[in-house]
Amino acid sequence: MGKHLTIHARLLKGCNADCSYCSSWEEDPAVRITAEDFHKALSFVMEEIVPLMGCGGPSSTVSLQYIGGEVLLVPADDLREIVYGARDVLQQHFGTVIDGAQSNLVGSERRIMELDTLFGGRLGTSVDGRGIQRTVAGSPAAYKKIFDRSREALARRRGRKPGAIFVVDRAGLENLGHEMEQADQRGHSLVLRPVFLGGRDVDSATVPELVEAFGTAFDGWAMQSTVAVEPFMHLLNKRLFASTVVGGVCPFQRDCAQVSIDIEPDGTLYTCLDMADSKQVPFGNALKGEFDREAWEALVARRDNIDPRCARCPYFDACQGGCMSEAVHHTGSIYGRSDLCAVWTDLFGRIDRLLETHGRQAVKEWLQSCHR
Ligand code: SF4
Ligand code: SF4
Repeated sequence: MGKHLTIHARLLKGCNADCSYCSSWEEDPAVRITAEDFHKALSFVMEEIVPLMGCGGPSSTVSLQYIGGEVLLVPADDLREIVYGARDVLQQHFGTVIDGAQSNLVGSERRIMELDTLFGGRLGTSVDGRGIQRTVAGSPAAYKKIFDRSREALARRRGRKPGAIFVVDRAGLENLGHEMEQADQRGHSLVLRPVFLGGRDVDSATVPELVEAFGTAFDGWAMQSTVAVEPFMHLLNKRLFASTVVGGVCPFQRDCAQVSIDIEPDGTLYTCLDMADSKQVPFGNALKGEFDREAWEALVARRDNIDPRCARCPYFDACQGGCMSEAVHHTGSIYGRSDLCAVWTDLFGRIDRLLETHGRQAVKEWLQSCHR
């Protein structure tokens, strides 16, 4: 079976919100890639890079994710042209094409419904119900009001409950429990991400704080929750079904450069949105027809260039040595080991104790009952 490819596409950098940990709001929302340029960039990636990645073909799947900047700032007609044209380009190279968008849902009800229709409900968002870092025109209350209205409309009119990302930085630590409860009550999936270091005023949690917060959150989730929470679900699945869970997902994969690519509004190419946000190892420009094969091959080499501590680690199969972008943040090297190792090691210990306490069968049954 062909490898699955993930494409992150940033159509613009501007945003309609002005959240404190993000710098997108400082960008000019009028500066965005045109449909024609986006399809040109995508065709370049398909023709010049994807064959080297070992992806593509009738049995292969591509997932194109439109990420922020805020996709709602692209006028509806332009966005449709971009999305339909991209599907045409991708269908020439992949058997299955899936696309979706990440949105802050800060828009009119009509725009939100249009977005939902365009992507057949494949929308993701981000949450921070108690924090004051998410703002529209400087106001956390304004952000919450519009966001809640959009979520309510999606649930009432379409029966949708978009999965959400919760960024865990120092301010987010104390709200983690609340967001877990909310996800459970509302019935949507949740992804917990330690904050990346790309924005302004970033106040990252320390590693011991993250160990404690993720550990407590895992204990509150396991055998009790009704919804999928990542990275818990993935790591638990990996420990339970090691030989049948194929491949990795972020941030637990080491062949990122062969399964993931990010296209920026000016055509610059990175491995993924995290590496793009941090400007880590660009390897070409799809609009200029440039591909730096040497830089890309250095990224590919992370697959086999394993930190000796990871090579000896009993959890390597599930963890894969963690995320390359985090490794660069913490060690300066694409071959390094992220400091978040302490968080993952703690979680693996908890997973093993959970399996011992409840037995594999009971854990499997509970896991299968969780909504994804
Ligand atoms: S570098 Fe990290 S975030 Fe990027 S694709 Fe790899 S695992 Fe995912
Ligand atoms: S848990 Fe730590 S040592 Fe083990 S594979 Fe992951 S990053 Fe490497």
